Order: sequence, then C-alpha cells, then structure tokens
Amino acid sequence: CGIVGYIGTREAYPIIIEGLKRLEYRGYDSAGIAIFDGTDLKVSKTKGKVSDLEERAEKEITKHGNIGIGHTRWATHGVPNDVNSHPHLSNSGDLVIIHNGIIENYESLKQELISRGYTFKSDTDTEVLINLIEDVKIQENVKLGQAVQIALNQVIGAYAIAVFDKTKPEEIVIARLGSPLAVGVGENEFFIASDASPFLEYTKNAIYLEDEEMAIIRFHKGIKVRKIKDDSIVPAYVQELQM
Ligand code: GLU
Repeated sequence: CGIVGYIGTREAYPIIIEGLKRLEYRGYDSAGIAIFDGTDLKVSKTKGKVSDLEERAEKEITKHGNIGIGHTRWATHGVPNDVNSHPHLSNSGDLVIIHNGIIENYESLKQELISRGYTFKSDTDTEVLINLIEDVKIQENVKLGQAVQIALNQVIGAYAIAVFDKTKPEEIVIARLGSPLAVGVGENEFFIASDASPFLEYTKNAIYLEDEEMAIIRFHKGIKVRKIKDDSIVPAYVQELQM
C-alpha cells in the first residue's frame, strides 16, 4: 500500500528501501523493488516485510542504479505471494509498474490481451494494466506518457501508479485516481512517494498530484503535469513543506 520512486544522480536503492520503511505504517503483505543498473532492469520482490526484501535483494540483485521504483502491496487481486508482488513487468520485459489500488475491469481487459497473445505470470490486476500500456504503446506507436494516458482511459478503478521503460531510463510516468501521490523536487532529481515522508530529508519542495492527474517526470527536463482525461496541462504547483 505504498509507492516510492527515484530518478536522479544518487543511488536509488537505499532511498527506495528507506522510503518503503517510512511507509510501513500504511500496512502491507509484500514488498518489491526494480532498479535500472545502466544495462538491465533488476527486480527483487517477496511476500513479507521490507526487511525480507532487503535480505533477498542482497543475494539477488546488484543494487546500483539511478532510477528505480519500490512498492509495498496490500493484496486485492491474487493472494499475497512472491509472484503477485510488485513491481510487474510487461511481456516484452521493457516496461515496469508499481500500483496501489484496484483495476475493476481487469478481467475483460485481460481476456482481450490474452486473445492478442499476451501471457500472464501473476493473478494481479496490475499485470493486466502494464500489458495494456504496452499494447497501446505498440499499436498506437506512441510514447510512454501517451500510452499510459490512453490505457488509463480504458480502465475503471482506483490507482496510484509509477511506470518506466528500461529502454528509456530517463523518464518515469506517474498517475493518480483515488490513491495519494507526491513528487519531491530536488536539483536534477525527483522523488515519488505515497506521502512526503520518504523524501523529506532530501527536499522540502513537493508537488501533490490531484485525482485524475498524471505527470511525466524527466531527469534534467523537469516535470509535466496533465489531466488524464484530456490533454490539458496543469500548472505544476510546487509547495514548500514545513519541517
Ligand atoms: N490491486 C493490486 C494488487 O492486488 C494492488 C494492491 C495494492 O494497493 O497494494 O496487486
């Protein structure tokens, strides 16, 4: 039930793990992390606590990289186990997602994707969403931000999501409807989290997404906030947080 992400010049791994610990109060049954290490995407996830994830990641993945996302899951679709834990990858292995919330129409979307040749490893609604995004991206030949937007307009439900493409590791796309999402704005770096606690020690400047808003966050280029329903740009209101 928590989301943390980082893009910038620091090591993403410790920021994400510490951030997930700060979000533990929200309750969860599993935890996971995905880091792009400069060459490939490294994913580690497990049923259990963030401390279990750390133990596992220690053995499983090299933890270097400047872009990553992490998640604590409160299972709604699919039992709490390692496979159903987030992050989830698309069929190509390029796109990776973390998601809080519920995709209510996931079953019909899943059948449609299966009929188009997609396969699924988990029982989650989330894995359906990342493959829907991939399918839109390929079919419509659009960038990730547009693919996320088009896909979300086919979705009924509630969500806070963070998505990135390992072939374009300078961008994270986030969106919210019914689940909180904050962006910490540093110098040449951005933090993403369910609340500000994971990034307070790094920056006091935050943007809170409103419901039905999404943001495209580009390392070096900044953040663009827009409505999910139409293409209108929302001025990114940076708020200064109090200690
Ligand atoms: N519906 C998703 C799942 O069951 C996300 C649950 C959550 O909010 O953590 O995997």
